[in-house]
Amino acid sequence: MASKGDFHTHSTFSDGRLTPSELVDLAYKNGVRIHALTDHDTVDGLPEAFRAAERYADLTLIPGIEMSTDVPGNEVHILGHFIDWKDAGFLKKLTRLQESRLGRAEKMVAKLAELNKPVSWERVLEIAGEGVVGRPHIALALVENGHVESTNRAFDLYLSRTGPAYVGRERLDPEDVVDLIDGVGGLTTLAHPRELRAAGSLDDLLRRLKDAGLIAMEVYYQDYRPDEVETFRQLAERFDLLPLGGSDYHALGRPEEREPGNIPLPDSAINDYLAVARDRDSLSRARLAQAK
Ligand code: AMP
Ligand code: ZN
Ligand code: FE
Ligand code: FE
Repeated sequence: MASKGDFHTHSTFSDGRLTPSELVDLAYKNGVRIHALTDHDTVDGLPEAFRAAERYADLTLIPGIEMSTDVPGNEVHILGHFIDWKDAGFLKKLTRLQESRLGRAEKMVAKLAELNKPVSWERVLEIAGEGVVGRPHIALALVENGHVESTNRAFDLYLSRTGPAYVGRERLDPEDVVDLIDGVGGLTTLAHPRELRAAGSLDDLLRRLKDAGLIAMEVYYQDYRPDEVETFRQLAERFDLLPLGGSDYHALGRPEEREPGNIPLPDSAINDYLAVARDRDSLSRARLAQAK
């Protein structure tokens, strides 16, 4: 089951529970040699991850991000890999998104107070720590205060898209995010397509995103069953997208959670993706050389 690649993991810089360096260590221990850190809407964990990766001569750490985007009635998550994460314009955009997340989280806390399920805003920020504040942190605060017995319950009762305490984030079009990541040299992958397929909008979205420059789709994801993997593999093929995979590890101890590398992502898929990355690099270098 173990793969030498994992293209989707989270650290304390978003809503994961391991620091980037703990995460890199665990992934390496599990046999992962090509590892992407993909925190939600932030690249702030990357410096620490790269420092940790220096300890392993045979580890390739890929600078990544997972960006939340919106389509009517649903959220679409786009992974970016090989991004130029120090690009000033890109960082500015991320800072703006993080600020808007703060305001939005504060509104959700206010709604919870109105619902007679108060949590302290300071405590939510404390739980988020260095991480980009999100609903999982509010869910933990609800559990701490005894309003619900689990974070899943917090989502079911209050925080899901249709829940009474939900407030939307700043809306981003998936196509715009594909462009944004493309603009900083990154390759884009549609994350965890199962929910989108259930909502019935996946084919249309894939057509649009392929046109926008999407490269891959997560097929070997977390706990997807073999028949689901096969369905998504065929779908990726139909839309001329590379099949990719990741554990989406958060260290939350959820039953469906897979440790880094504990996914059936085959070497052939890893190699095909890395080949595109190499091609792209040489292409952009060639373009730069021509521009000079
Ligand atoms: P946010 O970016 O603040 O909207 O929070 C989104 C995150 O909340 C996702 O990345 C998941 O980790 C988590 N999440 C979303 N829906 C649920 C759910 N129904 N149960 C548990 N966690 C969820
Ligand atoms: Zn997450
Ligand atoms: Fe996601
Ligand atoms: Fe994720």
